[in-house]
Amino acid sequence: MNTTRGLWKDDKTPKAGWKYLGVKDLEGKQYAKCTMCGQGGLRYVHYLEHPAFEETHAVGCVCAERMVKDPSRIQENEKMIRRRNITEIKNN
Ligand SMILES: [Zn+2]
Repeated sequence: MNTTRGLWKDDKTPKAGWKYLGVKDLEGKQYAKCTMCGQGGLRYVHYLEHPAFEETHAVGCVCAERMVKDPSRIQENEKMIRRRNITEIKNN
């Protein structure tokens, strides 16, 4: 993750205050590109939304951790989805 890349340097994109929605395992069938920094090859995708921003962001764990106040839930989910036989964890 590089904060000098992509939307990290876009003035209109909020960098904090995102709400964490959950994580999905794309199971290696497809790979996502982080919508914040543009890094490709993501298997585990974290979803975040913002009250002042229309689109949901699908990002890698490192970007996701920087976008919320408390990254512990994201770190936990990342570990859980890598270890367990589940493909989606929703944050409630
Ligand atoms: Zn990223």
